[in-house]
Amino acid sequence: MKNYYKKRDFSKTPEPSDNHQELDDKDLVFVVQKHQASSLHYDFRLQIEGALESWAVPKGPSLDPQQKRLAVHVEKHPYQYKDFEGVIPEGEYGAGTVMVWDKGSYENLKQESISQSLENGEIKIFLKGEKLKGEFTLVKMKEDNWLLIKGRDENADSEANILNSEPNSALTGRNLKQIKREA
Ligand code: MN
Repeated sequence: MKNYYKKRDFSKTPEPSDNHQELDDKDLVFVVQKHQASSLHYDFRLQIEGALESWAVPKGPSLDPQQKRLAVHVEKHPYQYKDFEGVIPEGEYGAGTVMVWDKGSYENLKQESISQSLENGEIKIFLKGEKLKGEFTLVKMKEDNWLLIKGRDENADSEANILNSEPNSALTGRNLKQIKREA
């Protein structure tokens, strides 16, 4: 792959310079869960080595590259958590309603492995969700505090508020109230 890039000047050749289809970590799962706990937040999860690496995003993801959203790195969740939609009972950790707000696959945009990116504190990915699409970066600031930032691509939108315009479940179409009622 490296040699492919070395040999070419992409300001001159029409050959593909986009590498997100060519890397090893292909079509891994991502999910964003909307979580009405003591306060509403969004849990951003990436499949890394068979588990879901997780960040709690208090303000939720944005499509605006200028909106850098705090993402607090939290404990790893099991892979199966990706399909969890329901209610965590009162008195339990994270008590409240959980919605699968978005789901899909992602590709690692870096040459290094996604685990290496996690360790290095900078993850660059291409999301193929139902709501979130295109490039996103997660960058470590200090300790567990990371930032989630939309990349500047055709899916970026500084006007949109996707949290308001698409509030319901990507899994079942339900809103938080319905999920709670039907639990
Ligand atoms: Mn949560």
